[in-house]
Amino acid sequence: MREVRLTAVGKPLEEAEVALPQIGSSDVLIRVVASGICHSDEHYRAGISKINRLPVTLGHEIAGRVEKAGADIKHLTPGDRVCVHYLVHCGRCEFCVRGLEQFCRTGQMIGKHRDGGYAEFIKVPGRNAFVLPDQIPFEIGAIMMCSSATAFHALNKARLKPGESIAIFGFGGLGFSALQLARAFEVGEIYVVEINPAKLALIGELGSVAIDANKGNPVEQIMDATNGKGVDVSLELIGSARTMRQAVQCLGALGRAALVGLTAESMSLFPYAEVINKEVEIIGVSDHLASEIPALIGFVQSGKLRFPPDALRFVELNAEQINASLDALQNSIEHVRTVIRLAPK
Ligand SMILES: [Zn+2]
Ligand SMILES: [Zn+2]
Repeated sequence: MREVRLTAVGKPLEEAEVALPQIGSSDVLIRVVASGICHSDEHYRAGISKINRLPVTLGHEIAGRVEKAGADIKHLTPGDRVCVHYLVHCGRCEFCVRGLEQFCRTGQMIGKHRDGGYAEFIKVPGRNAFVLPDQIPFEIGAIMMCSSATAFHALNKARLKPGESIAIFGFGGLGFSALQLARAFEVGEIYVVEINPAKLALIGELGSVAIDANKGNPVEQIMDATNGKGVDVSLELIGSARTMRQAVQCLGALGRAALVGLTAESMSLFPYAEVINKEVEIIGVSDHLASEIPALIGFVQSGKLRFPPDALRFVELNAEQINASLDALQNSIEHVRTVIRLAPK
């Protein structure tokens, strides 16, 4: 089969012809139909995120059809449409048995620790493959398995309830899904903090309150808009100490701040005034869970979570085209997602 893989950090991806993966009794072999090109793939290629196994086939946003199912697989048969949960886990350790597989001691990320979806076929454990309803196109089935799934996990971790207010810091891929999912949770007012004019306009068009951080401290703007009460939940999706601090400061009593963005900076708070006195909670969010995928598929199927078709671009399974889209991701601030589309057989 053909694949496009990372052979050296800092170098363009290369095409290779390799043997079809052999599956075990609990695995499925999937014929890839769509594979999303993610910002983190660009970080792997550039060496910003460490890769410790080379060569590796990138790609962790995958949808396709079951080609072959191992003898122990009961929920899938060849021809089924599926999307892939990207965290491969042992299923037996103290975390896996509690449904917390993101802490599995032998957990592996598809497209990083093991070969991913920039290929004609991929082998995954059967429990990582979820049936993709016919109404959801393969390309949507692929891209919803990363940032949308993590946005959903963040809202779950923050215990967002109907009627509560929320402030979302950052309107990239995560924020775009978080806004729609928050609405699906039937929340009250949604505030979205941004600096990009086009994104601020879109936030308004989507019926949420755009907070322009260029026009002054977003915390003060949120406090004004909520009559000094603050919000119940905040999501930090940018990955900066400054916005993390703001995400805590804009909370009201018993508020929960979910931190999703990554940063190596340290963050400072005034413990009494900003945390203790209001009994606020600061919650870390890492990836998402297999148990959340069926509900996520449901939100997409019911149209509550949408991806505008004009925001999708397609390339072939071709190293030159994939490298060019990874280059474009380096400076991109747009809501454009590129998907590798393979011709269905
Ligand atoms: Zn991704
Ligand atoms: Zn485990």
